[in-house]
Amino acid sequence: MSSDVATEVKRRRTFAIISHPDAGKSTMTEALALHARMISEAGAIHGKAGRKSTVSDWMEMEKARGISVSSTALQFNYLAEHSEPGIPSVINLVDTPGHADFSEDTYRVLTAVDAAVMLIDAAKGLEPQTLKLFQVCRHRGIPVITVINKWDRPGQTPLELIDEISERIGLTPTPLFFPVGIAGDFRGLLDRRTGEYVHFTRTAGGAKIAPEEIMSADDAAAREGDEWTAAVEESELLSEMGQDHDQEMFLAGQTSPMIFASAMLNFGVRQLLEVLVELAPPPAGRVDIEGNERPVTDPFSAVVFKVQAGMDSSHRDRLAYMRIVSGEFERGMVVTHAQTGKPFATKYAQAVFGRDRSTVDTAYPGDVVGLVNATALAPGDTLFDGPKVQFPPIPSFAPEHFSTLRATTADKYKQFRKAMDQLDSEGVVQVLRNDTRGDMSPVLAAVGPMQFEVVTARMKAEFNVDTIIEPLGYTLARRTDAESAPELDRQRGVEVFTRTDGAVLALFSDKWRLQYIEKEHPDLTLQPLVAAA
Ligand code: GDP
Repeated sequence: MSSDVATEVKRRRTFAIISHPDAGKSTMTEALALHARMISEAGAIHGKAGRKSTVSDWMEMEKARGISVSSTALQFNYLAEHSEPGIPSVINLVDTPGHADFSEDTYRVLTAVDAAVMLIDAAKGLEPQTLKLFQVCRHRGIPVITVINKWDRPGQTPLELIDEISERIGLTPTPLFFPVGIAGDFRGLLDRRTGEYVHFTRTAGGAKIAPEEIMSADDAAAREGDEWTAAVEESELLSEMGQDHDQEMFLAGQTSPMIFASAMLNFGVRQLLEVLVELAPPPAGRVDIEGNERPVTDPFSAVVFKVQAGMDSSHRDRLAYMRIVSGEFERGMVVTHAQTGKPFATKYAQAVFGRDRSTVDTAYPGDVVGLVNATALAPGDTLFDGPKVQFPPIPSFAPEHFSTLRATTADKYKQFRKAMDQLDSEGVVQVLRNDTRGDMSPVLAAVGPMQFEVVTARMKAEFNVDTIIEPLGYTLARRTDAESAPELDRQRGVEVFTRTDGAVLALFSDKWRLQYIEKEHPDLTLQPLVAAA
């Protein structure tokens, strides 16, 4: 069996797209599906500017196209130039919810991938949400491929975009495919490694794969004239500055292979797939809490990275998504939940991927499987078969939204406590407490405000407690310690809390308050909460 597993692992690539809303993530996802022949025509989503919906775009795509994508993972086969001859690569694209529903889940998804595609709007450059997600990738050592999207529209110059990325986040772009034609006049791509030109032809409405013509440099010069010369000169300039691809530096997170693309016109999309297969790392083993590595070929193990509770009052529709770390998963296996030592039946492993809505029968490291009926599972939990293993918990991420939660009536004390403990252990929000506020009025800390709505909805639906959320006037948190706490508590615009995991956090009204206190009291412990530890 393990040789099967090794073969399956080798052909898999599991990645997420990190981007700011509107950069083109849905359009790119659709373009990838088109190239993988999952759909025959794009356009369901294209051109729908100003769509306002909290429903995942993938769900919309599913409705519009009748293909099976879940809001969490899309899997497709793709036979790339660097796939084993005749054996398609298996691509898992894990969605990062990131629009209205930006939450801890958005970050947690990044614990389930081996690479990230940073999708940037050519006109806008680096935007806030992309930066936040990039920081998580950096902390976790996830290699990043950069795609400059919307090259068919006016935007910045390639060198401006490259400089911005190098200077602001210290990641050196090493373009593999350099654009021929300025932003707004996208003719094709210079393949910097072969020196060849990939000329694209538009299809009506960008609905089909754009036909490509590969030409020599001479033919490209004859055809594109100054535009070709400019691309070659800029590419040479990059080479002089050492900005050529280096696999080791890419895997170490120091450089980022870069592609210029138009998801809308399907330009550069095949190149992205090729780069993923050629350069992105296949799933690797993981180190457990004892410091031992669980290699991919060991018996089954997986980490839960997301738990989704349905909004109806039934516990049964609770879905847990796991990323397989090692071994072969077969539906129906009874595995062990490491946190409780209890068995967990996987009879209902859900159709998270595939062409139609069938259930999952087998899956391998790097794949994502949804488990229904998963009341006992929380993000970060381990499931295994064979020798016991437990992986480290998913770190909690730097919250930016803080609110108090209280019940509208005082008689529901017990249910309120119970509900709070449950939602806390599931990682729905971070729960902060201090003596002044007491048990019935904890402070909830979240990465995105949608998390608060989930709390009040579930309090009502599952525990029958009506609650009120009231925003607090704090905007940022720092990690401190018991020694610094009393002095911090004396400061105006600061409050100290203990989080359930024992961390002591100080909340600040704003960054100026924090800067002032840091200056006045240099001895106090105040560490930034990194997005991922
Ligand atoms: P998301 O919010 O990141 O999922 O972005 P969408 O895929 O919904 O795209 C946002 C808007 O940009 C939509 O109106 C798309 O049609 C448009 N768009 C996406 N990719 C491109 C592109 O390559 N070129 C152009 N011109 N528009 C694009």
